[in-house]
Amino acid sequence: MSDCLFCKISAGDVPAEKVHDDGELFAIKDINPTAPVHLLIIPHKHIETIADLEAAHAELIGKVYLTARDIARDEGFDEDGYRVVANCKRDGGQTVFHIHFHLLAGRPMSWPPG
Ligand code: AMP
Ligand code: ZN
Repeated sequence: MSDCLFCKISAGDVPAEKVHDDGELFAIKDINPTAPVHLLIIPHKHIETIADLEAAHAELIGKVYLTARDIARDEGFDEDGYRVVANCKRDGGQTVFHIHFHLLAGRPMSWPPG
């Protein structure tokens, strides 16, 4: 997708602070962090929203959570905890239409979200 921000970051055409890349998923620092740790875990493959997921993506999405677990262990916030969240479409607050998972840590999170 030539006009997709995260496809451009995936291709290296837009710079980002990458903290992980296994060829299927990459993770970058969010440009506008809302917590001391705010990363985005992003599949290289362009999938617009959660609503566009198919059964064939199940392993990929499962890997998102394993990647979050590994990053939390590596960066030392797995003991204190963290939040993984994906926003879907307008009411979910999605602004970039290439599926991604926010990994937030470093402060207590409130519930419910706004
Ligand atoms: P969402 O609102 O769930 O679609 O999340 C999109 C996220 O992408 C927001 O938290 C933005 O701050 C973040 N974002 C937008 N542009 C960039 C960028 N160039 N590099 C890193 N993060 C970005
Ligand atoms: Zn894309």
